[in-house]
Amino acid sequence: MNILDGVKNISKIVRQYNDLELNQQIIDLTQQALDLINENVRLTQENEELKKANDLESRIIRHKDFYITLRDDEQEIHYCTTCWGKDHKLIQLFDTDRCVECERKWREANR
Ligand SMILES: [Zn+2]
Repeated sequence: MNILDGVKNISKIVRQYNDLELNQQIIDLTQQALDLINENVRLTQENEELKKANDLESRIIRHKDFYITLRDDEQEIHYCTTCWGKDHKLIQLFDTDRCVECERKWREANR
């Protein structure tokens, strides 16, 4: 039985007593349980993102030519160092070694 099922079961029992104060306590308890569940979901997602970023960080190889590659990447794709450093995003650099993401942000900031 999870926490929400437990609160629902207690709620059914409490309703039989028709006690307003007890009912309000169950409503408050239900809200607290929902808040905890939502917080748990948020923290689980955040933890997954941190694990992914940490895993990627350990694979990063920095190059003097201002691009990065990933260890064990046979294609040795070049990624933008700025986007990785700022947002932990891997933005692939193309033939020109220009980053489309950085260029877009620069244009938006200078409108
Ligand atoms: Zn970039």
